Amino acid sequence: MSTLPPSYISCISRLLGNDTAAFLRSYEQPRAFGLRLNPLKLRAGDRVTENLIGLFGLKPIPWCSDGYFYEESIRPGRHPFHAAGLYYIQEPSAMIAAELLDPQPGELVLDLAAAPGGKATQIAGKMNGEGLLIANEIHPARAKILSGNVERLGISNTLVTQSSPQQLSERFPERFDRVLLDAPCSGEGMFRKDPDAAKQWSPEAVDACAVRQRDILPHAAAMLKPGGTLVYSTCTFNTLENEEIIADFVSRQPEFRLIREERMWPHLGQGEGHYAAVLRKEASSLPDEPEAKPTRTSKPRKNGSLPTLEDAAIQTFRTFAEEVLPGFRLPPNGSPLLFGDALYWMPVSPNTPASSKSLSGLRVLRPGLHLGDFRKSRFEPAHALAMAVAAEDAALTSDYSADSPEIAAYWRGETLPASPGMKGWGLTTVDGLPLGWFKASDGQQKNRLPKGLRSLSP
Ligand code: SAM
Repeated sequence: MSTLPPSYISCISRLLGNDTAAFLRSYEQPRAFGLRLNPLKLRAGDRVTENLIGLFGLKPIPWCSDGYFYEESIRPGRHPFHAAGLYYIQEPSAMIAAELLDPQPGELVLDLAAAPGGKATQIAGKMNGEGLLIANEIHPARAKILSGNVERLGISNTLVTQSSPQQLSERFPERFDRVLLDAPCSGEGMFRKDPDAAKQWSPEAVDACAVRQRDILPHAAAMLKPGGTLVYSTCTFNTLENEEIIADFVSRQPEFRLIREERMWPHLGQGEGHYAAVLRKEASSLPDEPEAKPTRTSKPRKNGSLPTLEDAAIQTFRTFAEEVLPGFRLPPNGSPLLFGDALYWMPVSPNTPASSKSLSGLRVLRPGLHLGDFRKSRFEPAHALAMAVAAEDAALTSDYSADSPEIAAYWRGETLPASPGMKGWGLTTVDGLPLGWFKASDGQQKNRLPKGLRSLSP
């Protein structure tokens, strides 16, 4: 509490009145830690899920169906289950925004300010691989982290873009069923979690954030279809960045109706500060024009026309998959996309905003599920593919328990012994869940875990 700027305390006192003392006392109390189980990999009631809940001593978070509290000493970020994408570590209050957004399988959803990916991975979990999520982040380094988290959680129906809100809104007017704007903010709600952040706080910084939020929100709103749902959220307490932004926005754009506002307070619950507003778009904001025809994702091929490079590449993948991943099926409603030597399966559906044409000129870090790369005409499967498949899909697996020396060695990037006759691509699995590829030959399982994902422990 001693690190809190006095002008911040005055601000909070004006907001909270008699509750100020209880609020300030919360800074003296330990904070709650949370994680979300990944429904793309774990099902409620399954053995692995129950073991994980028992192993980490997890307790349900009431406002998030997949959310759990854990004790700080557990350090789940250092466990191989984290590398296998079984959960995402996320501040408990932050889980409220995607719950309120309530995305459904098959929808088109945009997360406009998505890094590092807490809410985007939560949205993708709720969509269960059906429909399309565009997870966008303007800052290049943060967009890479977002992309890594989308990969780790085995998400196949998501495009990661690195664009400005304006670039996207020009490209995708009224295209999405749901849009989340988890806006950059002054972060007051995170001062207990990150005391250094309090040092950056000033009334001027709050004003600057509010200006930026007012600038971004209309772009988020412009991309929502009539009838769609927009959630605006921040991790700050200041009304200037929350209720006042929303009230001003609704007064300027009356086609939006405010459905609900939620506040999460550290002195009233087990979590940090968060704000979320749910808005419904009741009518179009576009000027009256003849309705645009949905963009075709690809031209229908005339009989006899030459196969494209994509056709050849996906055929190579199918031959690879028949042998290595006989149980795997490419997600329906997708199309192959070659990005240099890299082959992706891009999620597409009727009226999709994503096609190689509609994305051209935008910076796309991950145009869907990365299937693999062509290296000197050989096909090598991508790590993202290992994370998106189930162990049962693979012809060859090497399974070890989470606390085994083999898993520790694999995670460090070491080669493991292979039985005589073991040959080709296989999945190393931890308690039955894929951790990465190996390639077996000459009595060895050569480690194919990407270098950047290896554990640094000796
Ligand atoms: N939704 C994320 C999650 O759950 O992990 C957290 C997002 S964070 C609160 C806000 C994000 O907005 C940051 O990643 C930041 O880089 C990005 N941002 C900053 N300035 C922006 C701008 N002008 N337009 C869009 N996004 C911006």
